[in-house]
Amino acid sequence: MNEMWDAIVVGGGLAGWTAGIRAAQRGKKVLLVTEGVGTLFYFSGIFDYGDVEGLRHLPKHPYTLFDSQAILQGQHFVQKICPEYVVSDLPQTAFTVLGTVRQGDLMPRSMVLPDRQGQGTFVLLVPEGLKDFFPEIVAANMTREFPGWQVSVKKMQVEALAEWTRLGKNVSSIDYAAIWRSEAGQRALAQEIEEIKRQYQEAGKSTSQIVVVLPSLVRGYFDSSRTKPFRNEISLPVMEMSSFVPSPHGRYLAEYLKHTFTDLGGELMIGARAVSINGEATAEGQAKAGQELIVHSMGKSLRLKGKKFILATGGLLGGGIKVSMARKSISEGVFDLPLYVPNEWSGPKFFAPQPFTQVGVETDEFMRPLDPTSGQVVWGNVHVVGRMLAHWDPWTQRCGGGVSVTSGYVAAELI
Ligand SMILES: Cc1cc2nc3c(=O)[nH]c(=O)nc-3n(C[C@H](O)[C@H](O)[C@H](O)COP(=O)(O)OP(=O)(O)OC[C@H]3O[C@@H](n4cnc5c(N)ncnc54)[C@H](O)[C@@H]3O)c2cc1C
Repeated sequence: MNEMWDAIVVGGGLAGWTAGIRAAQRGKKVLLVTEGVGTLFYFSGIFDYGDVEGLRHLPKHPYTLFDSQAILQGQHFVQKICPEYVVSDLPQTAFTVLGTVRQGDLMPRSMVLPDRQGQGTFVLLVPEGLKDFFPEIVAANMTREFPGWQVSVKKMQVEALAEWTRLGKNVSSIDYAAIWRSEAGQRALAQEIEEIKRQYQEAGKSTSQIVVVLPSLVRGYFDSSRTKPFRNEISLPVMEMSSFVPSPHGRYLAEYLKHTFTDLGGELMIGARAVSINGEATAEGQAKAGQELIVHSMGKSLRLKGKKFILATGGLLGGGIKVSMARKSISEGVFDLPLYVPNEWSGPKFFAPQPFTQVGVETDEFMRPLDPTSGQVVWGNVHVVGRMLAHWDPWTQRCGGGVSVTSGYVAAELI
């Protein structure tokens, strides 16, 4: 292959898609190579940024690599490609599928909770057979969280899945999200909600403060189909809860990002595994320059030429870092980059910050990989993004989306 790309992005998770889309928006010839879908399928629908200013004070945290402007630009980038998402100075809150309240930094309008001090009625609309969803517990938690609000539960049978539920099969929130995205599903939902409204009116109650809450993605955002999304008029406000696994938000966001990327002219190689890179230093003591990425795809070995490479392979969970307990080894799987590995792997308290979360690649301010011993840049035309970066913990710092989006965005600006 003699084709040459301005950038080859390795990895199709949040960081890789962000880098690929932004590079394509900037008119770059970009190829994204990915083996799988990454951790997006676990995504709640909410981008967590965490306490950005506080985290910037931690030495070596990825946020120390970016200025506030870059973080803000990344958020606006998300909002531009996903217009239903609201950027706000203040953290917003949403319901979890347990009916508890969680904070988040960038979430769709349809998840943002109303004022807790206010009053109203939540009608929890529960489609039959929804797996791992316990309406009574959820309603009790909602009541605790919103003491001034009434909470009632309404079960709903969905015609298309009636046979499944009759046979006792569980239905996932992904199955329901697919129903709500269809014209028939939207119509059924609109009718059900109309019926709720009618019942309240018949009982002589005001409907002005009723909010219907659904444990699934119900709105037509992340629509990557080429058809105009169907939007039925729904007569009461509808709110979504954040997703649980398997996540419809993550599933549709992944699809949507893929289409956004290819619509912008980005080229894609799915089911392809990057295994190594060829390149060398041009002079003694200089960083190496990668030239060809070696990729295994459909039983073939391909050599793909790039001017720049973005490593977005997702760390320990994404498959970018391999650990062999038997051989007591840990390695980065494509560029064989040196890794920061803490002395202790785990700590005694399960919910406390765990040292292994800090494993990753240390970089300079341009996200170029460093050798932690010498402090020298290893590859001059490689940028490392997302979970591959060292010194952060998405769990206790709650900044997974923030670090992935910002690093992917900034890397694309460096192409
Ligand atoms: C269970 C869970 C829930 C989460 N929920 C949230 C949330 O609600 N909000 C939030 O903000 N953050 C959340 N996060 C964190 C956030 O999703 C992560 O920060 C982010 O997914 C990391 O993205 P990434 O692109 O770096 O890696 P990943 O998403 O792991 O993607 C890595 C990609 O690289 C590919 N890959 C790996 N090796 C190769 C190779 N050699 N060749 C080709 N491709 C390769 C993988 O197939 C994959 O596509 C969650 C994470 C997890 C694990």
